Amino acid sequence: MISLQSSKVLGATIKDLIIPAERVAHVQVKNNLEHALLVLTKTGYTAVPVLDPKYRLHGLVSTTHIMDSILGLERIEFDKLEHMIVEDVMNKELPCLNVTDTVEKGLELLVDHPFVCVQDENDVFEGILTRRTILDRLITHFQTNETKKDPEA
Ligand code: AMP
Repeated sequence: MISLQSSKVLGATIKDLIIPAERVAHVQVKNNLEHALLVLTKTGYTAVPVLDPKYRLHGLVSTTHIMDSILGLERIEFDKLEHMIVEDVMNKELPCLNVTDTVEKGLELLVDHPFVCVQDENDVFEGILTRRTILDRLITHFQTNETKKDPEA
């Protein structure tokens, strides 16, 4: 059963849990795949958001998308990296959140994704909500409430 305390945390907005856009590694739609692979490798992230010069969100690109696109019949065609652009290989079908959405909605989307992008009503990228951040918040919440229930614990 969901307690009043739990509904308070699940019903709160994701606003305070977002990693803001300026701290999120991203690539631009027209960047070539060599640049995108460099960003992904250097940051160690599996996927990063794809933005346009006006900071609008267009998709996500991952190392898997890139490697898949240069996979030839007999070899990996690394020379293609320089000539192909992110827009050609990115995933455009992605779930998105708004800053006013609830933690519960974020949690539901994060079941299937390690992070979800957050954008405003004009598709301008605001940041990301990660599975790690939301799980951290829930653990803190449950631990705090356990201690309140049982001060000896
Ligand atoms: P984490 O929960 O920190 O392991 O992050 C999960 C995924 O979210 C990473 O693999 C990245 O794809 C993405 N991510 C997390 N933090 C950032 C960031 N600062 N910039 C870009 N992507 C990020």
